Amino acid sequence: MDKRKSKSITKKITVSGIVQGVGFRPFVYNIAKKHGILGTVRNIGGLVEIILQSSEEKYNDFLQDLKTNAPIGSEITGIETENINERKFDGFRIIESGNDEEISIIPPDLPVCESCERELFIGTDRRFLNPFISCMSCGARYTIIEELPYDRHNTTMRDFDMCPSCREEYTSPKNRRFHAQTISCYDCGPYLIFNNLTDANELTEKDAFEEAAKIIESGGIIAVKGIGGYHFACSPFLEDTVLKLRELKGREAKPFAIMFESVDSIREYCIVSEKEEELLKSKARPIVLLYLKNDSMAPSACQGSIYCGAFLPYTPLQVLLIKRCGPLIMTSANISNKPIIKDNQEMLSLKSPLLNGVLYNKRRIVRSVDDSVSKVMDSTPQLIRRSRGHVPYPVFCPNDKKELQIFAAGGDLKASFCLYKNGNAVMSQYFGDLEERTVLERYKASVKDLCHMLKITPDIAVCDMHPNYHSSKFAESLGIPLIYVQHHHAHIASVMAEHHLDGQVIGVAFDGTGYGTDGQIWGGEFLVCEGAEFKRAAHLRYTPILGGDASMRDAAKTAVCFLLSSNLDKYIKDERKDIIKAALKNNINTVLTSSMGRLFDAVSSLLGIRHENSYEGECAAMLEKEAVLALRKGTEPKNMAFEIKQKSDLIEIDPKPVFESLCHHRYSAGIGSLALGFHYAVADMILEVCEIIRKEQNINTVALSGGVFQNTVLMERALKILRDKHFKVYYNVSVPPNDGSIGLGQTFIGLER
Ligand code: ZN
Ligand code: ZN
Ligand code: FE
Repeated sequence: MDKRKSKSITKKITVSGIVQGVGFRPFVYNIAKKHGILGTVRNIGGLVEIILQSSEEKYNDFLQDLKTNAPIGSEITGIETENINERKFDGFRIIESGNDEEISIIPPDLPVCESCERELFIGTDRRFLNPFISCMSCGARYTIIEELPYDRHNTTMRDFDMCPSCREEYTSPKNRRFHAQTISCYDCGPYLIFNNLTDANELTEKDAFEEAAKIIESGGIIAVKGIGGYHFACSPFLEDTVLKLRELKGREAKPFAIMFESVDSIREYCIVSEKEEELLKSKARPIVLLYLKNDSMAPSACQGSIYCGAFLPYTPLQVLLIKRCGPLIMTSANISNKPIIKDNQEMLSLKSPLLNGVLYNKRRIVRSVDDSVSKVMDSTPQLIRRSRGHVPYPVFCPNDKKELQIFAAGGDLKASFCLYKNGNAVMSQYFGDLEERTVLERYKASVKDLCHMLKITPDIAVCDMHPNYHSSKFAESLGIPLIYVQHHHAHIASVMAEHHLDGQVIGVAFDGTGYGTDGQIWGGEFLVCEGAEFKRAAHLRYTPILGGDASMRDAAKTAVCFLLSSNLDKYIKDERKDIIKAALKNNINTVLTSSMGRLFDAVSSLLGIRHENSYEGECAAMLEKEAVLALRKGTEPKNMAFEIKQKSDLIEIDPKPVFESLCHHRYSAGIGSLALGFHYAVADMILEVCEIIRKEQNINTVALSGGVFQNTVLMERALKILRDKHFKVYYNVSVPPNDGSIGLGQTFIGLER
């Protein structure tokens, strides 16, 4: 016998990544058994610790298996091994969880897996049509965890006693529900309940499902409890119903997300590429923005958008409901900018004649999480809203400052904060606009919650320099050292953080609004960034516009302001022209802005496409739509260009010639040609300014960020022409380009300071 083989080694293996709540310990148990290895496995903090004893050869086989066959839903980011002293084992066992000071990686919520979905429809199975079927590879995680480590008694599943049959599965190593913390059945619950909101009689289980389905089929609207909160569900084909839904949600104007049974079903309505199919089926099961093929849906469902937010069912209940009722609008159940409703009591007490019932269960949701939103751009999945399925998985930001713990407050719009410890930047879920008091409350409560869960006590806080941001005021209230970061600098830093960029970067930050170091409203910025520092290199010429909240909505008014400052008075048709002119002249409620978002608004209105933003970015989205349609038809883009003026050490970008072009050709060239021409002109301008900066400062790396870059036509054009000129271009991938990226950028700057 080979001496080397028989010699026993004892090792400690620490596995990091998403390794809890995904069946990792049972998996380790099974491969240890397979290779005849002795030892133990346990959760420790957010890690999995394996102690094993075996021959060198078996150890190597084990390690190979560990790396290549890890369960679906897991994601190994590191494996550390060390030799330890020999000890005695009598087999291989899963042991009690331990605690330590490492950052915990809390598993994100997982969609129903293929095996469970199959089992759901097996007539003889004891979970036949059970809307809560799950296993160790699927089900709620982040939203039901009360404490770490992730064990049943630390989740809201503790409200349900395991029945003997479930207990049997839970303790059988070969069973795919071995240590599945969300294990349940018809005997142990949770179970389905339907409340029609009019009498006290509640239906349960099959009856509950039947009643809810019937109401939807007859054009009603019901609330359905999901993973991170409630959805409002109804048919996307009935205009009256969709209008009622808009009324119920407080006249919300955004296109609604629609859930489909399968990718094939989505293909009947939308164009789906291979990459988009992958994204639809990915673990986060995000809402994916797809081009609509036809207009067979009710006009108010997609609100004239060229995109449809499509997604696949991710809970067993959704699988059953969509199979029965066909494609359904599934929109976050919230009223007028308030947070998504997660508690049964709140939902059941929502007395509205527009809501025909609530389909729910009694498993508590610990923290609310909206659906994530993604799209494919540049053949890469890109996040628009980072929430369910992504949070609280960290963005890895390796750094030498091992000890430093950071709270970064993010921005006020699309609020999302970031917590940093030990190389991991954890972005919170999306909250919405902090101007709404209830959203702010949830944001604050969530900071406390995540700090506790991740065992983070921030040493420093980082926030936006905007004097009126609620997020900044909250950061100030913490009483720890505080760093203020300029908004667009944070945008660019988020790209640097994601791609681990060091050295100098030309940052192009285009968005609607951000507070500048000179007190003006920035938003069309070229910043040269390095480490924690930045210098403004170029910006869109300041245009005086009328301030106030309403003017963000009023694109027609913005257009008047841009035309006035370009001396194109004679082209202004708006009857408010003289009043606006007088107000600007007398400096009444006037602000200076270099906002690219406002420029898109103005152009959209000038071309007669949209005059008002009934939701953020609507005018720009409709302008993009015209450009997309033009591209499809092969329409030539109208040539136009910005004027680039070199002023001492700052470049000023003047949109005047663009407006001249648009005004002159407004009625001769087609709208599509002008819309596309405008997009191309912005891309050309990006290239031109980047080339000037490259020539002067020898920087070849470009980072693009800010909400304007959600525009696919602009983004793809800019990427193409920058790459043609050999720039290395980076953009946001794991955080959104909009203000959802601010927290990560602030964290990066906090680390670099
Ligand atoms: Zn499963
Ligand atoms: Zn059971
Ligand atoms: Fe921004």
